[in-house]
Amino acid sequence: MPDGLTLERSEALARECAQFRTFGHFINNEWVGGHGGATIELSNPATGELLGAIQAGDEVDIDRAVRAAHAAFPAWARSEPLERQRILLEIAARLRRRQAEFAMFETLNNGKPITDALNDVSHCITQFEYYAGAPAFLSGELLDFPDCSALVHREPVGVVAQIIPWNVPLVMTAMKLAPALAAGCTIVLKPAETVCLAVLEFIAEVADLLPRGVVNVVTGYGAAIGEALVAHPLVRKVAFTGSRATAQKIIQYASVNLIPQTMELGGKSANIVCEDADLDAAAESIVLTTIFNKGEVCLAGSRVFAHRRIHDALIARIGERIAKVRQGNPIDPATQLGAQASVAQFDRILSYIDLGRAEGAAVVHGGGRASVPGLDKGLFIQPTIFTGVRNDMRIAQEEIFGPVTGIIAWDGEEELIRQVNDSVYGLAGGLWTRNLARAHRLSRAMDTGTVWVNRYYNVRPGMPLGGTRQSGFGRESAFAPLEHYTHSKCVVVNLAEGEIGIFNH
Ligand code: NAD
Repeated sequence: MPDGLTLERSEALARECAQFRTFGHFINNEWVGGHGGATIELSNPATGELLGAIQAGDEVDIDRAVRAAHAAFPAWARSEPLERQRILLEIAARLRRRQAEFAMFETLNNGKPITDALNDVSHCITQFEYYAGAPAFLSGELLDFPDCSALVHREPVGVVAQIIPWNVPLVMTAMKLAPALAAGCTIVLKPAETVCLAVLEFIAEVADLLPRGVVNVVTGYGAAIGEALVAHPLVRKVAFTGSRATAQKIIQYASVNLIPQTMELGGKSANIVCEDADLDAAAESIVLTTIFNKGEVCLAGSRVFAHRRIHDALIARIGERIAKVRQGNPIDPATQLGAQASVAQFDRILSYIDLGRAEGAAVVHGGGRASVPGLDKGLFIQPTIFTGVRNDMRIAQEEIFGPVTGIIAWDGEEELIRQVNDSVYGLAGGLWTRNLARAHRLSRAMDTGTVWVNRYYNVRPGMPLGGTRQSGFGRESAFAPLEHYTHSKCVVVNLAEGEIGIFNH
């Protein structure tokens, strides 16, 4: 976190960043008006204030952006690896220089606490730094045979479509742009229509570093432009982060030209607490994953499995910590739980809390709308813990995407693992035990992309993130995306002279 972000400084920054802004699409390094002329308003979910307007793009805008990316591709694909490295490092440096401002744009538009947003920007910086190391080493290989050599070139796939959600827009932008740029691809990015202020400000900041057409951004409703983008004949790959329902559509669009897809989707991750666990640390992690980014996190450990022997003691420790959660104005550096990102999301979470009660689970903390003095229009929800949850309840099976965690009691490991894996999702998971063999045994039995043992959200660049089953396929934040954004070409050079002699008879 940058030093000295006092409430006073944060408020001054918020006033500056909240001035109404209008954005065009970013195509060929120019901000251009949308073809249809329609716009979408961006607002602050903590106050209801308008922050700006973006273009509601259409297929004409998409076509312009894809053609710009296509025209830029040959030169960018052949650019010097160290040039791409320098650009990625300079992007990281610019993010660091204006870290507090980018964090504030994200906070204002998304409702997340400024400390969460500062963490997000740090995460973005590390993504660009991590992938800056790639271009120089992202080379092919040479295979030797007695009478031929095979040169396996690693080539960027071409124009890629990248579609991202609203919960961590800047982080998603970094996770998508950094590996694709490192690999030599050109890009059309479509951010979410409700939260993209920080993404557009970020693009404005780094525009002068990027050759024309290498990165293009078209804003608008997914339903209006998603198909035109993904099914465009010049697009060679789609990388998507968002919901399962949208993923199903995107896979259909991608089938038109048979382009490859990577999918980072939702989760309902299990957080298992064994009877030998450090209960204080486990309770802290449960409260953290309930409130972090207001629970609007695909990786959230929203299905807690507490061993029956420590169940009540764990709930007591959760209660002590949840009582201390500071919910308030997201721009206040002391705030730990902010406002939900949109009215739709707010209503959805409250309806799941009602559903949990109707299904017979008991609310032991929270359970409704929260009020924050001076922010009557804010979309605040109390951190909510359900006990008495069964794994077959909808609140245990469906992604709520809010500050709501359900606790399920367990007795034996076999039944535990059966329930943990009884989910359409398999994105992440937590495990709390002091027994090393048990940690390995249970983590290997969990059908999920990540398991954090004794610390949830322990994420570093280079660790592959992504899911199993309907949480998606493909990995990010690691070497894997460099493979997704490139393909190999094998050039086989015959070392022998003359004919083979097949017809010398
Ligand atoms: P969403 O699927 O509604 O929207 C995501 C993006 O897809 C937005 O940009 C939206 O405009 C676009 N979109 C919508 N309809 C489209 C269409 N027909 N064609 C193309 N694009 C379309 O998801 P959301 O509600 O914005 O995001 C929340 C979901 O994202 C949750 O399920 C969450 O778990 C998931 N998520 C996953 C990860 C991960 O890394 N696995 C990270 C963050 C969020």
